[in-house]
Amino acid sequence: MSLADRELSRREVVRLALCGVSLGCLDSRLEAERGVSVTKSEHRGNRIGKKKMVTETAFVYDPIYLQHETPPGFSESPQRLLSIVKKLEKEKLLGHLLNISYSPDALEWITTVHKRGYMERVKTICQQGVGYVDSPDVPVSGKSYDAAVAAVGGVLAAVDAVMKGKVRNAFCAIRPPGHHALENRAMGFCIFNNVAVAARYIQKKYKLARVLIVDWDVHHGNGTQAAFYDDSTVFYFSVHQYPFYPGTGAASEKGTGKGLNFTLNAPLPAGCGDTEYQKVFEEKLNPAALDFNPDFILISSGFDAQINDPIGGMSVTPEGFSCLTRIVMDIARKYCSGRIVSVLEGGYNLEQLAASAAAHIYQLR
Ligand SMILES: [Zn+2]
Repeated sequence: MSLADRELSRREVVRLALCGVSLGCLDSRLEAERGVSVTKSEHRGNRIGKKKMVTETAFVYDPIYLQHETPPGFSESPQRLLSIVKKLEKEKLLGHLLNISYSPDALEWITTVHKRGYMERVKTICQQGVGYVDSPDVPVSGKSYDAAVAAVGGVLAAVDAVMKGKVRNAFCAIRPPGHHALENRAMGFCIFNNVAVAARYIQKKYKLARVLIVDWDVHHGNGTQAAFYDDSTVFYFSVHQYPFYPGTGAASEKGTGKGLNFTLNAPLPAGCGDTEYQKVFEEKLNPAALDFNPDFILISSGFDAQINDPIGGMSVTPEGFSCLTRIVMDIARKYCSGRIVSVLEGGYNLEQLAASAAAHIYQLR
């Protein structure tokens, strides 16, 4: 860790304290700072020994994601990714990340979650300029199919980077988002379920048995829940505003058959913020992770629970997302060598989105 980095870390801790992050999380953060120092000095040793750079975190982004065009004024826009990239450049974070693009192998893997007929239908709709897939809340342009396939490919590339030991974790700045997408249907801005496909990829390609999905988007990820509802090998945890779109995500939805108790929904009323979210993570996610003992963690990282989001009704701050990230990282460190791939879902106040994503990524690295 360079002197400049160390100073930045100290400043960040002070900033968190000033912003009123709870003492419990701050303690954890301080411990983590020490932990990260050790890890990074180990890496520095490796760097000297192998004469190569080692970074902690990969950043997935490609201009193809901007080619999924939506109508003027539509919430889910290319500007979302541009605002994140601009913020990371401004904060000088981008240079500390391993920048990677998408895997070209996504098509065959999408079939592990979606019907081939649905994939063909999306492709045809985009080519013919119909305007939307299945409902007007999934508008598409001529290149949307290619962008959606590349979005899945971006997450797969991130999984590869983690599994090959190039990085410890990754953040995927991709779009369209995915957690509402069902096997045979697009909905809620989502075309292909990026995280669900990644979970199958991790299991089938890398032979890891158990994948934990943590979904903190303000909406319930009905598509992801449906994909694994009867499956005991993928644990789906979601904290979300309720009642709210898409209407699913009651606490009583716990899975079925072999998958019973491998779905954990934590619905929260509108207006909740950092304290309520942190409490849910500590009281519900931590014990569930202990029982499940994951081999890999995927985060459905929507930032629309952020304060002043035009769609969501929660008030999580960037410091709050930083704290949630810390909790998930602690779980990952305990059970799966720190392996996390975080995948962008929602977040529609551009300024807040950029700040929350930067706080999340800062914590990951
Ligand atoms: Zn959302």
